[in-house]
Amino acid sequence: MKTEYYKINGSAEDVTALEKAGEILRNGGLVAFPTETVYGLGASALSPTAAEKIYAAKGRPSDNPLIVHVAHPEDADELAITSSLYYELAERFMPGPLTVIMPKRECVPDAVTGGLSTVAVRCPENKTARRLILAAGVPVAAPSANRSGRPSPTSASHVKLDMDGRIDMLIDGGDCEIGVESTVVTIVDGRCTVLRPGAVTEGMLSEVCSSVSVDKAVTDPALAGEHPESPGMKYKHYAPLADVILAEGDLGDFVSYVNENAGEKDAVFASRNESALFSCRVLETGESGTPAELNHSLYSLLRMADELSLERVYIKCPPREGEYLALFNRLIRAAGGKITKI
Ligand code: AMP
Ligand code: MG
Repeated sequence: MKTEYYKINGSAEDVTALEKAGEILRNGGLVAFPTETVYGLGASALSPTAAEKIYAAKGRPSDNPLIVHVAHPEDADELAITSSLYYELAERFMPGPLTVIMPKRECVPDAVTGGLSTVAVRCPENKTARRLILAAGVPVAAPSANRSGRPSPTSASHVKLDMDGRIDMLIDGGDCEIGVESTVVTIVDGRCTVLRPGAVTEGMLSEVCSSVSVDKAVTDPALAGEHPESPGMKYKHYAPLADVILAEGDLGDFVSYVNENAGEKDAVFASRNESALFSCRVLETGESGTPAELNHSLYSLLRMADELSLERVYIKCPPREGEYLALFNRLIRAAGGKITKI
């Protein structure tokens, strides 16, 4: 199939293009679109055949459920049995990078939930995403728009590389601001458990909910086993072709370790402020290495490592908490679960 490409440019043409994209979704087709986290690959969440097309286009295992995107937090009531805690979280974090898992209603097909009795709901903040969902007039099931096992796409060019010819339309809305996927939580009996960390941190959730915990599989992929709370956590995700060496130690030790070990086909991820410390190739993560900069650049740098046919990338292991937890969670998976102590 030919994939139609449209770049959002702020003109009246955008309205026509988004209406067309909405119609494609309503009629069971696939549209990739920008969100504030990563690009999503959307299909009607009410149609099993449309949802099945997502799995086929991505090569995604069919037991890995999809997140359903809505234009307004209250639209979740049509899909899920919501609760007062859902609305307290929505009040504070929606629209935004938070996904909430709740018991599903009958209208949500098994193909969307991987056969689970729950459904994951998110209301994105990105304007183009919201306009598209409104134009579709149906809730939109959308995983990240990458081929399964590849890093999530944070720009339209990433989506094009993975999905050209496999989907009906790609809407280019520029680079994704946040760069890592949404925080995924379950809420049961007034308690909140983080299954996947994202830009909404445990600390932020604690300001709204008195009982917040983080699932063990977030920091220890081995614990995800065969039946993790979040099926997506058991798959090897976010992996570039190069070996990711996640090295734990202070900056001085890290610099010495990299300079002693990195060869011509290797690179290190480092901020612009620190790049002069390294004698090997540096892939810059941003100006000063804040968690927001690291999240924003992570996937595009992992993709760049592949483009450059690098053999190894050295990355300094971030703290396993707070604003760094989302990054740690992605890196430990990209590194195949291994941390190198230095
Ligand atoms: P992605 O679509 O790539 O952003 O991944 C969605 C994540 O949400 C995956 O890790 C899924 O396993 C998880 N997820 C979606 N729906 C559910 C659900 N009903 N129960 C548990 N995890 C879910
Ligand atoms: Mg994904």
